Amino acid sequence: MRENREFICVTCPVGCTIEAVIEGQELIELKGNACRRGIAFVREEISNPRRMLTTTVQVDGGALPLLPVHSNEPLPKHLLLAAAAALRRVRVTAPVTVGQVIVHDLLGTGVDMQASRPVPAKQATD
Ligand code: SF4
Repeated sequence: MRENREFICVTCPVGCTIEAVIEGQELIELKGNACRRGIAFVREEISNPRRMLTTTVQVDGGALPLLPVHSNEPLPKHLLLAAAAALRRVRVTAPVTVGQVIVHDLLGTGVDMQASRPVPAKQATD
């Protein structure tokens, strides 16, 4: 059965609104995309939507209590909530360097979570 769906392309900051006609997982036609990457975006949204994940994890002994982390590749969209729940249980020990892998192969997806910034160890006070 054919249906009309609207997508906001998140491939670049332009954020085109794309109107598509789809049938099952097949893209029949679309309009509103300013470039061809919008076609690839809609095709992936129909068959296997994925998103980058950014969040924070707790830091032990750091100058900051939380470490911003991001996925090195987009994760399957249906796993985002489970991934966020798993990351709430993660604790890292300072110091942490930017780009350091905090979780390898998150939920068996092959995607790593990396530190988005450095967090030095907390200075000892007398
Ligand atoms: S269709 Fe092209 S220009 Fe529009 S948001 Fe997607 S990538 Fe950007």
